[in-house]
Amino acid sequence: MNVVVVGGGIVGLASAHELATRGASVTLVEKGSLGGESTQRAAGGIRTQFSTPVNVDLSLASIPTWESFEEQFGVDIGYRRNGYLFLGRDDGTAADLRESAAMQNDRGGDTRILDPTDATEYCSGVRTDAFQLATYSPLDGFADPNLACQGYAQALPDEGVDVRTKTEVTDVLTGGGSSAGPGPVTGVELDGAETLVADAVVNAAGPWAAELAAMAGIDIPVRPKRRQVVVVDPETPIEDDAPLTIDLDTGVYFRPERDGVAIAGGHFAATDPDADPDAYSTTHDVDWAVTCVERAGDAATYFGPESRIRRGWGGLYAVTPDHHAILEETMPGFVNAVGFSGHGFQHAPATATVVADLVLDESMSDVDVSALAGDRFESGDLVEEQNVA
Ligand SMILES: Cc1cc2nc3c(=O)[nH]c(=O)nc-3n(C[C@H](O)[C@H](O)[C@H](O)COP(=O)(O)OP(=O)(O)OC[C@H]3O[C@@H](n4cnc5c(N)ncnc54)[C@H](O)[C@@H]3O)c2cc1C
Repeated sequence: MNVVVVGGGIVGLASAHELATRGASVTLVEKGSLGGESTQRAAGGIRTQFSTPVNVDLSLASIPTWESFEEQFGVDIGYRRNGYLFLGRDDGTAADLRESAAMQNDRGGDTRILDPTDATEYCSGVRTDAFQLATYSPLDGFADPNLACQGYAQALPDEGVDVRTKTEVTDVLTGGGSSAGPGPVTGVELDGAETLVADAVVNAAGPWAAELAAMAGIDIPVRPKRRQVVVVDPETPIEDDAPLTIDLDTGVYFRPERDGVAIAGGHFAATDPDADPDAYSTTHDVDWAVTCVERAGDAATYFGPESRIRRGWGGLYAVTPDHHAILEETMPGFVNAVGFSGHGFQHAPATATVVADLVLDESMSDVDVSALAGDRFESGDLVEEQNVA
């Protein structure tokens, strides 16, 4: 079985690894450098606290890989199980957090509902009077996405994967198709010149996913949306073991980096225009950064007026209308693993298992991804994720 994986971000790298270890002949094609796009701009969060079963299941199925990553790939990815702390200000948010916690725990999570005062045990700076309720899970944490890419990338040559960087897929080749639609996949065109014959193509093109799908005659609603992150010297240093903390009502999140420094982010604008993945700003906006630190200061005492912004960056989420991925074989031989919004890094290991199942017609994954079928956007059967920042 010849498989071409398009995209050398975390989703493509993990998928190539999984396919190769199951015996497929894999070529990974990346138009830039491995991990050089959305993945290198992620905040590294890994959490079980989602509001829908499929996202919780993808997290629970991915965490064992993050835990054993160094053992498996020989690279320390800086995995820190500091937990995630969700904070709710109003009645509706508190009720949603309670409901999500029950669902998470039903599926194997370990989410605890806390009084805001008890939340300070995990994050001492929480402004307890601002919140009604908190939830905390010790299963959650964060790791370094660049190092995770490095781990997968180092393993691929030994696994027999042909890795081609600085090479662009410029067309997806299909057979004649039928009245049911185009397909099956027969290969890809590289740089408008070379043809690579393939039995299957995996779309792991991140913010370019819709462009790649269009080459196969498939229309998918995956749109690039710019998101930003800042590295902050808080007025009061944040504890290195503080959780990734999210104020759900204002959308701000922050977590410790090292030595008291914090990373903070969130999307605050009322509008959310599509970005051009070939021409967007990879630096942070100063106004946005000020708002971000102010909102962090409204949630926790670390971020007083003497806080200093060290640096920041902008990157892209690949977003679908319901903030969930499309994970399916959309056309014979064409597998979409796209639209992960703000959680594609953490879900990559479980995604890779599903991708390999779809390509190889196997069933190694326990995760039911039927909710992630692409036809939900026509049927209206959407799976809205509330816990997104
Ligand atoms: C600011 C920010 C914070 C985030 N924080 C988190 C977080 O805390 N936790 C989390 O889980 N996720 C987070 N994310 C989301 C995460 O970064 C993405 O979901 C994840 O990196 C997606 O990986 P990917 O492999 O699908 O995409 P990418 O990393 O973008 O990789 C896609 C690759 O495909 C290549 N490509 C595209 N088209 C072609 C083509 N035609 N031919 C060849 N190559 C092609 C691109 O060059 C690119 O390298 C964050 C994202 C941002 C921007």
